[in-house]
Amino acid sequence: MKEVQVQGVILDWAGTMIDYGCFAPVAAFVEMFKLKGIEVTSEEVRKPMGLLKRDHLLAICKMERVAALWKEKYGRLPNEADIDEMYAGFEKLLFEALPEYTTPIPGALELVERLRSMGVKIGSTTGYTKEMMKIVTAEASKRGYAPDTFVCPDDTMAGRPYPWMSYENAKRLGVYPMKALVKVGDTLSDVAEGLNAGMWSVGILKGSNELGMTEAEVEACDPLRLQTRLDEIERQFREAGAHYVIETIGDLDAVLEEVNVRLARGESPDMLPRSNPYLLLTPGPLTTTPTVKAAMLSDWCTWDQQYNEVVQSIRSKLVRLATRAPASYTTVLMQGSGTFVVESVIGSVIPHDGKLAVLANGAYGDRIGKMAKVLGIDTVVIDFGETSPVDGARLDSVLLEQPDITHVAVVHTETTTGMRNSIEEIGRVANRHGKVYIVDAMSSFGGIELDVADIGIDFLISSSNKCIQGVPGFGFVIAKTTSLEQCAGRARSLSLDLYDQWDTMEREGGKWRFTSPTHVVYAFNQALRELEQEGGIAKRQMRFTNNQKTLAAGMARAGFRALLPEEHQSPIITSFYYPESDSFSFKELYERIKQEGFVLYPGKISTAPTFRIGNIGDVNAADMERLTQSIEKIRFW
Ligand SMILES: *Cc1c(COP(=O)(O)O)cnc(C)c1O
Repeated sequence: MKEVQVQGVILDWAGTMIDYGCFAPVAAFVEMFKLKGIEVTSEEVRKPMGLLKRDHLLAICKMERVAALWKEKYGRLPNEADIDEMYAGFEKLLFEALPEYTTPIPGALELVERLRSMGVKIGSTTGYTKEMMKIVTAEASKRGYAPDTFVCPDDTMAGRPYPWMSYENAKRLGVYPMKALVKVGDTLSDVAEGLNAGMWSVGILKGSNELGMTEAEVEACDPLRLQTRLDEIERQFREAGAHYVIETIGDLDAVLEEVNVRLARGESPDMLPRSNPYLLLTPGPLTTTPTVKAAMLSDWCTWDQQYNEVVQSIRSKLVRLATRAPASYTTVLMQGSGTFVVESVIGSVIPHDGKLAVLANGAYGDRIGKMAKVLGIDTVVIDFGETSPVDGARLDSVLLEQPDITHVAVVHTETTTGMRNSIEEIGRVANRHGKVYIVDAMSSFGGIELDVADIGIDFLISSSNKCIQGVPGFGFVIAKTTSLEQCAGRARSLSLDLYDQWDTMEREGGKWRFTSPTHVVYAFNQALRELEQEGGIAKRQMRFTNNQKTLAAGMARAGFRALLPEEHQSPIITSFYYPESDSFSFKELYERIKQEGFVLYPGKISTAPTFRIGNIGDVNAADMERLTQSIEKIRFW
């Protein structure tokens, strides 16, 4: 699919592009009511601004204070005939005044010129009727302003806040989808119109109806008072759902740039704003979607049945993600970071007379060896160095030499380097020797397709904050049920007792033994839903692979060499050598690229100076492209 970028803007007229402060309708309404013997304030008149003028009039009449004044004077509320008469009076006054109120707002004409030179089309909507717009467009064009098209409420079925005028604009401009359009206006009903039509919505402060001041009044206003007023209007715009609020119409360019970045990331106007100051290009925690973050905004009772049902649904979804033969597998969720859960498996699964073989080619394999030693488990670490994949033939000979080995553990994608180990090859050897097979798939599960039953895995470990794209707080173990059933009473720790945690979850319908990370669980639940929406693990693997390839190609262009040959490279994280230049410093690259909105990861191997860039999380190939372009741009070495 071709990338969507901003193709058009839909600008309001009065208070946005012409008539600074939006005075024409205010003066006419105030004057008309005065002729009826009713004093309305300009604040009252301004409140419903932006609506079709007849709707605007009805809204003023319905205001409590205005209705009371009317009743006092006429002994009843205004009827249909009164409204007709008032509207006729208003129109007459407005038509007389309109030509005077068509001066372009400072900066508006220059903006139009810039938009046109960028190829951005210019549509417009208004609360004025066709007849009023005849005057307005003629006068404005004499003064230099003429958008590509304009649509009035009486051209469509209804005015704001309905989206029809915007749809008509899109049609006439030949622009779609609606997220390729940015709506700009000076009233709350402009913002609503933009949101209802599925566009990016921008509110304007200075010159707006909401501020209701002339240019001279703004100039003369005490800066502190003015700022307080602007802050208050900005708050109202934001509350109404505006994506952006700008001080003057001339500030629109920066918004368009930002919207283009968000579109490139695959965002659309109906998504919550991404609140991150940067994208996390690390192996976890990583960039999550706004909707995953939003799932954490409620508090849940850890004992409640509804909550426990969510836990159960997560557990069964995980098993189905892990294998096409889910009947013989089960899951346990465990509090803590990934390491805690690895330790829970190592400490709960290996009997006191058991012996563990760990295949290691990085920090995470080494860590399994270390924790086994701390736990007093008889352990042999088979070391492959940092840049070679693990090897089934070597495991085979170790298992032949040491038949007392009962368990084999390996890391799937060694996050230390980005190495992808063949868990299939190791599984064949471990299974042939009848060993219990443990896989640390922390940084791969959910991002690389695998089937625990086909591979013959007894225990697979992963966590909430890696390829499933949840937030940190717990890990999970996918276990062959018959293998886990043998682990009762084996644990070397109370809180990390994998069997006991599983037993409680099974018997009590999803209950955790100790306080469960409720918010994290809800975020994870949402993340699983989004994995499904993306098309499952196969689709996610394609995205990650595409990310990694785009990253590697861009980094090569920028002159960086990857640590691993392509055939061992996982689609998760990539290690790059430092460039051969004395003026290179990773710290400086890190700081400078953070300014551009990306966070990188230091290296972790001992043999060569390297750093790492992750590509998992809510990031896509366009992000990788932007990253590598930024790296080329800031090149200081
Ligand atoms: C992230 C990770 C872990 C666990 O790390 P924590 O910091 O404890 O979450 C373990 N193994 C691998 C391969 C990992 O990538």
